[in-house]
Amino acid sequence: MKTKDQNSKHLYVHVPFCKDFCTYCDFCHYLAKDRFIIPWLKALKKEIAFKKMNYSYETIYIGGGTPSILSLAHLRELLEILKPYTENVLEYTFEANPESLDAFKADLLSDYGINRISLGMQTHDAKILKAIRRHHSFDDVRKTVDLLKIRGIRNISLDLIYGLPFQDLFSFKQSIEKALSLDIDHISLYALTLERGTSLYHQNYHLIDEDLDADMYEMAKDILEKAGFENYEVSNFARHQSYSLHNLAYWNYDDYDALSLSASGKRGLYRYDNTKSLIEYFKGNYIENEYQLDLKEAAFENIMMSFRTQFGLDLGLFAKRYKVSFFELYQKAFEKRKSDFIKIADHLVVKDRAILNDILLDFMDQDF
Ligand code: SF4
Repeated sequence: MKTKDQNSKHLYVHVPFCKDFCTYCDFCHYLAKDRFIIPWLKALKKEIAFKKMNYSYETIYIGGGTPSILSLAHLRELLEILKPYTENVLEYTFEANPESLDAFKADLLSDYGINRISLGMQTHDAKILKAIRRHHSFDDVRKTVDLLKIRGIRNISLDLIYGLPFQDLFSFKQSIEKALSLDIDHISLYALTLERGTSLYHQNYHLIDEDLDADMYEMAKDILEKAGFENYEVSNFARHQSYSLHNLAYWNYDDYDALSLSASGKRGLYRYDNTKSLIEYFKGNYIENEYQLDLKEAAFENIMMSFRTQFGLDLGLFAKRYKVSFFELYQKAFEKRKSDFIKIADHLVVKDRAILNDILLDFMDQDF
């Protein structure tokens, strides 16, 4: 098990600014005002010094919030701050919203080695986009994809949501087809959830029922698989093996570092959660929670993440991490659920991830 002083290969950086607050979103975000962004960039530099980061990462993910909302000058400053850690980067992802990524920013991203973009499309439907307070159209998505491809950034992922207000099966189907028409190789599908504190929550919005939820997901999976996509993780689809390396690290339960508000990091059993408060962050109180998991918690988190993917749980790595074999640790639960798994080389894979939650309940209940 690694200690908190050993290097990790993956870094997440949270840009906590948005143009507006989408009605469903409870991510950590503040309005994108210079009076917040300028001190945030300064604080970010201090956090890096505080955490004594002095090495390069294999994957870096700049997420948000809306990283693309930063002005060209602020974006350059952010990329310059992170540059010392990018020397060996294999995958450098940047999250963007279509209305705020112009040609100048795309040039800058390309100059700094960004090679993957995760674009928030959510739906093609103008009425729904307006209802959820998104400020772009499908045409903006198309133009953004074009301007990225022209600059050689072809590793593009689109986020779509199902279960949105006014969205029916047909509308969602159209969104998937529109996304496919852009010839991209990665799509993430998220079921709408109702989070406390969001506008939708206060509007007493009722989520779609479980059957429609399942129908939407199955329909999307079917269309995407026919188009050559692998459902490589519960919510993620890729073709030509354009998997998200950064997210695969999460699912593989590798260690990762984290910078900026609300970001969480992991080194072995050690965890930290950064503050969600800009004021605390500016004061230099970066970390809000620090704790150690016990072996049972870590092992369960590990299997919960790894069973989500088509690659499953790496049994050799599991034994190395916890000094005990998976079959020994989870003897009873595995015996009960044996027929739900398939072993591929040294990996244990869930056959039908639609019942993953039921399977996990048995592993959660297992006594050691
Ligand atoms: S969904 Fe994205 S753009 Fe919308 S408020 Fe949340 S972080 Fe900001």
